[in-house]
Amino acid sequence: MRTDQKCGARLLVHGRPGASYLLYALGAVGVWVAATQYPWQRPHPICQQLASQLEGKVFTPGASVYQESLSSYFSYQEQSLKPACIVRPTSAEDVSTIIVTMAAAHRKFGEQFAIRSNGQALFAGVANINGGVTIDLRAMDSIRISSDRSTVEIESGAAWGQVFSELDPQNLTVTGGRAGAIGTGGYLLSGGLSMLGPAEGWACDTILEYEVVLASGEVVTATKSSHPDLFLALKGGSNNFGVVTKFIIKAYPFNGLWGGFLVYPGDEIPRQLGAFAGFMAPGSFDPQANPIMSVSWTSEYRVLMGTNVLLYAKPEPHPKALRPFVDEVPALFSTLRAMTMLDFNNEKDGHQMPGFYTLYYTTTFTHSPTVYALIVSAFNSSIPFISTVPNMNWHLTLQASPATTGKNSLGLDSNDERLNILMLIAFFPDPRHRHDVRKAASHLLDTIKKTTKAAGVYRPFKYMGYADESQDVIGGYGEESKKRLQAASRKYDPEGLFHRGVPGGFKLFP
Ligand SMILES: Cc1cc2nc3c(=O)[nH]c(=O)nc-3n(C[C@H](O)[C@H](O)[C@H](O)COP(=O)(O)OP(=O)(O)OC[C@H]3O[C@@H](n4cnc5c(N)ncnc54)[C@H](O)[C@@H]3O)c2cc1C
Repeated sequence: MRTDQKCGARLLVHGRPGASYLLYALGAVGVWVAATQYPWQRPHPICQQLASQLEGKVFTPGASVYQESLSSYFSYQEQSLKPACIVRPTSAEDVSTIIVTMAAAHRKFGEQFAIRSNGQALFAGVANINGGVTIDLRAMDSIRISSDRSTVEIESGAAWGQVFSELDPQNLTVTGGRAGAIGTGGYLLSGGLSMLGPAEGWACDTILEYEVVLASGEVVTATKSSHPDLFLALKGGSNNFGVVTKFIIKAYPFNGLWGGFLVYPGDEIPRQLGAFAGFMAPGSFDPQANPIMSVSWTSEYRVLMGTNVLLYAKPEPHPKALRPFVDEVPALFSTLRAMTMLDFNNEKDGHQMPGFYTLYYTTTFTHSPTVYALIVSAFNSSIPFISTVPNMNWHLTLQASPATTGKNSLGLDSNDERLNILMLIAFFPDPRHRHDVRKAASHLLDTIKKTTKAAGVYRPFKYMGYADESQDVIGGYGEESKKRLQAASRKYDPEGLFHRGVPGGFKLFP
């Protein structure tokens, strides 16, 4: 009785106690539903505003487009985040509307958002966000070859498989990713290691023009002569300056490649390390060749194996530079052949395990003939620390860096003509093992750092595309480059929208 008297609803229903109880009950159910809903399930005012501005382009939980967008991220970590809504712009004007709305919402209410191209970056929050707005650029995926065939215009939501399916039949190519699912956006803004890299430089070095939506909503074109500081900042500065909607990239005549995967038993590894050291030695480098040497341990086989990717940027079978990796190798599995870029993209995609908890770590060092074997020995010693993780995949990969051109923000020293880019990869299905695996990975990375420092070949550069969130990528560019990036951010984004409003990724300020 006392409870009823406290209930304001009863007083409003003009002497009809039955109706008042019904209203009370419905109200209580409403409060209960609201309290038990996750924040991402409630209608979000920003999503409602965006939906009124961009009709049919905003998707909330429950929509199949929302679900597809989440499941298309590569890693378990990114797939697990639940944005309040996902917005899929179809033009730079749409992106501008979104940015103006998000900037106002960030200023007033601290609202945050994420930007994604094809969602292949790994760690939680890099290109997705819990409870905020995710801008999914994949509906912007046009690819246009210039009439003189010297450049290609690519919208930033396209993936490399889409690009190569257009370019291969035209006997043209660009410095694109080596897996078809990699997005052009994240890859080109972080650097980009391509098959053409050893000859042409980082993929970002071959971008001639960017179309960017700034924090103000203004759409600008950055080239060598128009906004040159922004042009340079985007070559390694990732999502810290705006949303890039379009790239114009240099095109190269191309008649296919030779290469593929080559798997061999562990006792062959010392000979392969010798081949890799020989390839990296000054004087013997062939910039058309991309040997990517990997040592691997998996729960399935429980022994150390070699899993190389060997690529030659011409359709020349058994090129001299790759023969030491191929000749007389007791191959367990080989797909070496002449093929197109798209063939290789598809093959690489076929070896991936999307949806697993996935970690990448990286470090960099210059050539020293003795250091490679020590690194593999450290990798071998790390196996007992991860071997009890069910369905574990543990790989260490070595590859030569692209040519150093000095045309980017990566801060690399031009005296180092060639660097070794090392990547440590871990993937496993059960996220409960993440702490143990992270501990093993950090320990192994520390050992490798000590080893390369002792040999005098360690470099602080960490390639963003292969770095873990715990690694200082921007610091690795060096003080000069970092300061230049920070100055460009203050100029083009004075309120720091892409710093505080876009929390994911590698940031320029603490
Ligand atoms: C299987 C696999 C193979 C790989 N192979 C290679 C390889 O051959 N060479 C190589 O260099 N790297 C490689 N990588 C690394 C890859 O290049 C990076 O993860 C890259 O960031 C993926 O690009 P994305 O557009 O799919 O990323 P996303 O996850 O969509 O985005 C990554 C970051 O870029 C930002 N971003 C994306 N688009 C834009 C935009 N238009 N404007 C502003 N910010 C944007 C996002 O906010 C996010 O912080 C590989 C990764 C995987 C998983």
